[in-house]
Amino acid sequence: MGRTGWRERIAAARAEREATSRVRVRRTVSLRDGARCLVEGRSLLNFCGNDYLGLSQHFAVVGALQDAASREGAGGVGSHLVCGHHQLHDALERELADWLGAPRALLFGSGYLANLAVVQALLGDDDVCVQDRLNHASLIDAARLAGCRLRRYPHGDAEGAIRQLRSMPDGAALIATDGVFSMDGDIAPLRELALVARVQKALLYVDDAHGVGVVGPDGRGSVAASKLGVNDVPLQLATLGKALGGYGAAVLGDEDLIGHLSETARSYVYTTALPPAQAAATLAAVKLARTEHWRRGKLEELIGRFRERAQRAGLELMDSQTPIQPVLCGDDAGALAMSQWLEQSGYWVAAIRPPTVPEGRARLRVTLSALHGVADVDGLVDAIAKARDRARLGLTGADV
Ligand code: PMP
Repeated sequence: MGRTGWRERIAAARAEREATSRVRVRRTVSLRDGARCLVEGRSLLNFCGNDYLGLSQHFAVVGALQDAASREGAGGVGSHLVCGHHQLHDALERELADWLGAPRALLFGSGYLANLAVVQALLGDDDVCVQDRLNHASLIDAARLAGCRLRRYPHGDAEGAIRQLRSMPDGAALIATDGVFSMDGDIAPLRELALVARVQKALLYVDDAHGVGVVGPDGRGSVAASKLGVNDVPLQLATLGKALGGYGAAVLGDEDLIGHLSETARSYVYTTALPPAQAAATLAAVKLARTEHWRRGKLEELIGRFRERAQRAGLELMDSQTPIQPVLCGDDAGALAMSQWLEQSGYWVAAIRPPTVPEGRARLRVTLSALHGVADVDGLVDAIAKARDRARLGLTGADV
């Protein structure tokens, strides 16, 4: 046998990705202007970002960031429990808690870190984490890192969750689910899951990275949209880098749970606090998200228009009423060719392939934003239909 050479190993992995159309490419963006940006010299309309409400460039958000940075500096300076916890963090935590209807919020460096924190702080070797099969990668990683038993149930299947929990009656149990699923755009059956959690004495944790700001009354997310509160969903995640246009995340819950996380979650304790200027920017963004209802109204109109036109063009959509609107393509090479052809037509739409989505479910993941106009959406649908026709003829993105 002998030791495997790591260079051969990464070369083989790269060759495998190339052979299966699964190479991942990083693109460089400049000059963001509304939904338009320059991508390596070409002006594209961005249909793959998460700036759902269009707040990342809002003058009040950018102004708050500039003002706070000029007073407080650019960095976080230290971790929260040492010297990094700033008044602006406190103010943002209070605002988020008030908006989302929880006693307390705790800020994290990112949604990824927050998910690691929740599962690691609550579960150990003898415990179980039950998860939807389509949960975000950070929740899966969180359970693996926590060392607990991880069991996955079929997508959206609360009965599957209860079966998993019944088969493991010992230890503490956490049910973790995306609120709005990041690749499919549908909403988890939270009322059923809350019932399962109650019956099984499990804690329900909802990762609402794509729901907060976008769905529910006043944009309060999928928990509020499901008419649930903190008693049913003791912990939820809001990310600050999507609808709120900034960076970071917050976990919301009661005093006991949040206090426990703040002292024991390793990805809270052992990392630098968010820059206070980022907290100031998000504070401004939350105020806009709470009050400017027209942004959600516009999104709703664009979602309806996209779906109606896409269905008329014979595109295969999924059951989503959120700004995440996947167009199924089936095979990976077809999805990639369509995305490349769309780029040449001025539209930036990501081709999402396995392992991010299940085998045979490669897709164009269209995301809509209040920054888009009706004409942008109409043009996109026409371009996707053309790309689909070209892919059917076996043309690639290079065959312009
Ligand atoms: N959860 C979900 C459902 C997500 O889609 C993402 C981001 N793609 C995250 C968590 C991670 O959030 P962040 O980008 O803030 O790390």
